[in-house]
Amino acid sequence: MANTKRVYTFGNKKAEGNGKMKETLGGKGANLAEMNLIGVPVPPGFTIITDVCTEYYTHGRDKAVEMIRPEVEKAIAEIEHHTGMKFNDNKNPLLVSVRSGARASMPGMMDTILNLGLNDEAVEAIAQKSGNDRFAWDSYRRFVQMYGDVVLGMKPESKEDEDPFEEIIDHLKAEKGVQNDTDLTTDDLKEMVKRFKAAVKKQTGSDFPADAWEQLWGAVMSVFQSWMNDRAILYRKLNNIPAEWGTAVNVQAMVFGNMGENSATGVCFSRDAGTGENLFNGEYLVNAQGEDVVAGIRTPQQITKIGSQRWAESQGVSEAERAAKFPSLEEVMPEAYGELNAIQHNLEKYFTDMQDMEFTIQDGKLWMLQTRSGKRTGAAMVKIAMDMLAEGLIDEKTAVMRCEAAKLDELLHPVFDKDAMKAARVMTKGLPASPGAATGPIVFFAEDAEKWTEKHNGQKAILVRIETSPEDLKGMHVAAGILTARGGMTSHAAVVARGMGKCCVSGAGDAKIDYKARTLIINGMTLKEGDWISLNGSTGEVYLGQVATRDAELSGDFAKLMELSSQYARMKVRTNADTPNDAEVAIGFGAQGIGLCRTEHMFFEGDRILAVREMILADDEDGRRAALAKLLPMQRGDFEGIFTAMNGLPVTVRLLDPPLHEFVPHTEKDQKELAEHLGISYETVHHKVEALHEVNPMLGHRGCRLGNTYPEITEMQARALIEAALNVRKKGTPMSVEIMVPLVGNVKELKYQKQIIDNTAEQVFIERDEDIAYMVGTMIEVPRAAVTANEIAEVAEFFSFGTNDLTQMALGFSRDDIGKFLPVYLDRGILDHDPFQVLDQVGVGALLREGVAKGRSTRKSLKCGICGEHGGEPSSVEFCHFSGLDYVSCSPFRVPIARLAAAQAAIKEGK
Ligand code: PEP
Ligand code: MG
Repeated sequence: MANTKRVYTFGNKKAEGNGKMKETLGGKGANLAEMNLIGVPVPPGFTIITDVCTEYYTHGRDKAVEMIRPEVEKAIAEIEHHTGMKFNDNKNPLLVSVRSGARASMPGMMDTILNLGLNDEAVEAIAQKSGNDRFAWDSYRRFVQMYGDVVLGMKPESKEDEDPFEEIIDHLKAEKGVQNDTDLTTDDLKEMVKRFKAAVKKQTGSDFPADAWEQLWGAVMSVFQSWMNDRAILYRKLNNIPAEWGTAVNVQAMVFGNMGENSATGVCFSRDAGTGENLFNGEYLVNAQGEDVVAGIRTPQQITKIGSQRWAESQGVSEAERAAKFPSLEEVMPEAYGELNAIQHNLEKYFTDMQDMEFTIQDGKLWMLQTRSGKRTGAAMVKIAMDMLAEGLIDEKTAVMRCEAAKLDELLHPVFDKDAMKAARVMTKGLPASPGAATGPIVFFAEDAEKWTEKHNGQKAILVRIETSPEDLKGMHVAAGILTARGGMTSHAAVVARGMGKCCVSGAGDAKIDYKARTLIINGMTLKEGDWISLNGSTGEVYLGQVATRDAELSGDFAKLMELSSQYARMKVRTNADTPNDAEVAIGFGAQGIGLCRTEHMFFEGDRILAVREMILADDEDGRRAALAKLLPMQRGDFEGIFTAMNGLPVTVRLLDPPLHEFVPHTEKDQKELAEHLGISYETVHHKVEALHEVNPMLGHRGCRLGNTYPEITEMQARALIEAALNVRKKGTPMSVEIMVPLVGNVKELKYQKQIIDNTAEQVFIERDEDIAYMVGTMIEVPRAAVTANEIAEVAEFFSFGTNDLTQMALGFSRDDIGKFLPVYLDRGILDHDPFQVLDQVGVGALLREGVAKGRSTRKSLKCGICGEHGGEPSSVEFCHFSGLDYVSCSPFRVPIARLAAAQAAIKEGK
């Protein structure tokens, strides 16, 4: 490590790093370097590399400082050279910002310090130089507060406690009889700094550091420290970002948006992050620093005139009022706006992706502080990819790779039902911060959103906050939607909700929230915790009560993306469906067949459960056959419905799988009713039900073990299937039937079942004097089946990997009882994911690969698929592609996700 370069400088259109070095410089640092290289005005500075974060955690603070000190000193000298100012100097002080910047963007999760380098003397020099006393002291008081909160650890632990600095500000404003910070005089700000510093001394026992170097080391090290704060850890977990990556630290010369009326600061996007519309947009504030725009304390204004007019219309603000009170940057500072517009255009073209940018205008001069690929909703993601493809900015493969498969889920989420909307009563209107519809009971604290869902059977609440902060992340994640009283379209709530694809209405100014009383008052109406509201994240409207929702309609861009996906995917995507309705939904999403039809789900339908119970409780084979005869026409009808819906696409039907005791009644009342229905005694029913009880039902009398102990069940199901296939074919529908035997672990189990199926089919063919092709295959879901797949493939004509059971048996984790230890295992990092959601590639995946290889060693062209839950999870779908599977099968709503993931895997392989 002795010769490792740990600090990379940039400034004045030169940079030691570049945009490709995200691993080393973090996303922000790499793009700051790249912006310099392409001639964008960026305040000079340097990036301390991500490895130093790891070194900080390995060797501790002092060693980390020593490792970087000489390089940082040199880099600071370079900034001094570019700016003509001096660090740690009280006559011509250079002030810097210190910001985090991980490889993947983690907005607002880590700490930032602005205006570093100020002390009681430097502030006077800044006041003199800028000719603006107020600006100098405003910058100073912000610095002391930020430094106190972040570096000196004065930020309160509990949400209900006030920040000591905020408390001082509130007292001072009350003393002075003013409402806004901007109403305080320069002398008031001086007094504020004095009180801030006294608070620091009182709480930490030390004076606020006046030495700029001491300030700098403190700030850099606390950015590293913030990599491991709770909200950053949670964000990484939610977004699969490894802890080993570490964060870089960016130190840059300060530029000021709060230097007066000719200064401003803002955030902008090259396209609409909510809808994907190709329209430059964003928000800014005159005479403000960066955090003012996102903190939601002042209402930010729109950057473009068209954006401003749209905003005014949605808020019922007249054009005259808008132009006077809320003009756009385009109108207020046309020159700086013109330059910003040109830069945003170039940056998007250069990075070929929608950019999320931060800028500051200092005394009329524009500086870019950051550019990164912007977070966006699922709808925007698809539209932007398809638009950029049409514009020739990116090619087809890039367009497919740009879309995050899991995010398609958002497009499939419900919107408000049009009829229900007619009766809906609008209570108020905020900003349309993140599109979609949400309805639910209200809660006021993020923790309560989690508790509510736990307590009410998964029912999701609406989180209502004055404003949100990164600590609220977990609650936002579980909430159905988010409503805030304060904050613009780039407020924390808005940005985070859009990233999550969660419906959010922000800045609903009419909403009066009382955290202590847990009430929300809107226009005189008081709602308590648990009362229902509904949110329209696309219009900003807030409705009283529950408004019914319905499934989303998919846009033309979505269809285009799906078409492209099919063009590039090698694997087919089937669906797990047990009813004609599910099958139709899945076909609408592009399913290419049914990979798993669980017949036991049909046994629960309507009054057939009685016949099933009669069969289970029968004394002998004759009794069972009599009950099965009642079930036969029902099953045949079910199969006909599904075959017709699938219109010739392949259908894999699985023979009965679950333990028999799942079908019998367990309460005395129900058992008595059944006894009466069957004309037998309650005691007999009770006794038989007891006898069916199993200690480990998941490993008990289920799967092919049922068909092998009661062959007449398999006979009935095979007959129903073959007859249905013949009937449907007669009506002109092409047919392709695959009969699947579950839970095979030994080839003999399969042989026995296949014989029953073949004999039954033969009998039907003789009876009807016609025949039809069918295949018999098996699930591979018992580990022994995977390792003896060569033997099993002698009988099986296809394999479908049942990775739910395969995971259960390979890991020895009960599918039903994992909840007791899974959270602890995830917390401690023993597991990275729930293995029932994300395939354990190392263990279960190895069994799958062995099964495919051994199966194909016997039967070269053996068709192999997967039908466990993993078939709709993007990383598992990719694994299936690289394991040579022919198809994945998943629930209907995950079909689009699997199609995109399959295409991405194929494109990755081709690279
Ligand atoms: C499986 O085990 O992966 C599977 C699809 O079957 P089931 O979930 O019905 O047990
Ligand atoms: Mg199974």
